Amino acid sequence: MITIDKFNFSGKKAFVRVDFNVPLDAQFNITDDTRIRAALPTLKKILADGGSPIIASHLGRPKGVEDKFSLKHILKHVSDLLGVDVQFANDCVGPEAAAKAAALQPGEALMLENLRFHAEEEGKPRGLAEDASDEVKAAAKKDMKEKQRAFAKELASFADVYVNDAFGTAHRAHGSTAIIADDFDADHKMFGYLLQKEVDAVEKIMKEPARPFTAIIGGAKVSSKIDIIENLLDKVDNLIIGGGMAFTFIKAAGGQIGNSLCEDDKLDLANEIVAKAKKNGVNLVIASDAKIGDAFSNDANVKVCDADKIPAGWMGLDIAEKGEAEFSEVIKISKTILWNGPVGVFEFAKFAQGSEVVTAAIVASTANGAFSLVGGGDSVACVNKFDAADKVSYVSTGGGALLEFIEGKVLPGVKAIRGY
Ligand code: AMP
Repeated sequence: MITIDKFNFSGKKAFVRVDFNVPLDAQFNITDDTRIRAALPTLKKILADGGSPIIASHLGRPKGVEDKFSLKHILKHVSDLLGVDVQFANDCVGPEAAAKAAALQPGEALMLENLRFHAEEEGKPRGLAEDASDEVKAAAKKDMKEKQRAFAKELASFADVYVNDAFGTAHRAHGSTAIIADDFDADHKMFGYLLQKEVDAVEKIMKEPARPFTAIIGGAKVSSKIDIIENLLDKVDNLIIGGGMAFTFIKAAGGQIGNSLCEDDKLDLANEIVAKAKKNGVNLVIASDAKIGDAFSNDANVKVCDADKIPAGWMGLDIAEKGEAEFSEVIKISKTILWNGPVGVFEFAKFAQGSEVVTAAIVASTANGAFSLVGGGDSVACVNKFDAADKVSYVSTGGGALLEFIEGKVLPGVKAIRGY
């Protein structure tokens, strides 16, 4: 597999799939440009070599052409960050895009309109009646597969080389994230710097972790983290379970959890996880105390109690002093740390301390030589909130893609380039 740092883009047009799916306010101002900045090294490398990037992304979840999801809203900001006047094609395929791509000179850049204005990008038929028969649905699906192949081929025809730098969509087999790669030989397709870094970071912890390896899995629901937990139980030395989902485990073990978040249909599963952890020699850590509130609110009255003795009418919204010490102790002696999901309702100042203490323990461990990877929406918000993003080893930009990668799944966007 070729790597971007070894490739000379001089005189080459590169189709670069990025994830510029940034949040916009009502006036179309970008409220967080992290994703754009994350792809700059790749785009700048291509420009500096004397190549021409053709920048392609999705934005939002349009159902067709919708102005509010147009990438023209972010064009100026991308131009400012890149330091070149990025040209724009009002459709990602068709004669205008083809002509603009063909006319592109070395050192110039072109951005294509939102890929998802075309259903072919995602490869799902749109506008199908819900009550359509199975035959109609199957025919529409088959037809869409063919259209998706043609769509990807048209995108590929604009460029000499394909670069995927969109980790955020690497878990999707979309036209521009995976299917398009079939139109380039092995010497003309590669990861961008961001995708390479993301893949390296996850594989470093999942394939050859320095030990002890500790995963901290928090957040609201067990159900959304089951596959990750299952996969981690074969790999980690310590598994810390925090956040709302800890209460399903506590109830399953016979504890009183008051009004805490609980998935009653997952009680057996929680016990199975505990049994598997025991069998695998994994140290499963659940906080022994809880900071409880009488409402899901920052105005709630607050008390501290044992995590398995929460009175009726109260709910566990954070860990308390004992839990902080239990979690910190394990984190501080770890050499590899994965954190996904806050250990309390960190959005409320009253219940943010546990996640702050976890952040501080990860920072201390990292300073001590551990490799720490933080990823998945809310834990990234946590490290940002506690000003620690540059004090951990790696903060992933991927949400769903990161979770699927940690679950042990093959990501189509990664496989399309390196074959696995
Ligand atoms: P997730 O997206 O599953 O990682 O969940 C993140 C959300 O879990 C955050 O919005 C937290 O506020 C929430 N959360 C963390 N701890 C608790 C808790 N004890 N009770 C309810 N929600 C929680």
